[in-house]
Amino acid sequence: MSVAQNRSEKLRPLERRVYKYKNPKMNFFCPLCRSERALVYSYRLSWINYVQIAVATTFLMWVLYPIMEEKSFFIFFVSWGILEFGMRLAYRRQIPCPYCGFDAAWYKQDVRVARRLVNEFWGRDIDDTPLLRPESTSTEKEKASPAPKKI
Ligand SMILES: [Zn+2]
Repeated sequence: MSVAQNRSEKLRPLERRVYKYKNPKMNFFCPLCRSERALVYSYRLSWINYVQIAVATTFLMWVLYPIMEEKSFFIFFVSWGILEFGMRLAYRRQIPCPYCGFDAAWYKQDVRVARRLVNEFWGRDIDDTPLLRPESTSTEKEKASPAPKKI
């Protein structure tokens, strides 16, 4: 084995996939499996979304004005809420890594849930495997339970 091969195995470089995302909002690498990731949806509304809200509101007001009269103006807020909820749901669904199951949003909220989700992704039942932590060495186990002394 050459020196360059040995060095590249030690560094474990970030992995780029062949698949290209269309108009990604954010590119990054998964912190667990080091695969290239991209987020296509943003949780913020763009000007196109506000145009969509305006068009939907106008249409629904036109349909419901004979029934609701002035109250139909509040349809704007309902359509705004529905679109924003849908955008945040789409954003949240793309966060988990499709290659290793790592969910950065859950990792930020609760590490144990993120660890359980990764274990479920890989079909493991064990819940005590470390996630994003250096592997425990045998010296830590020895400190926790010292070997019995010989008499
Ligand atoms: Zn990953």
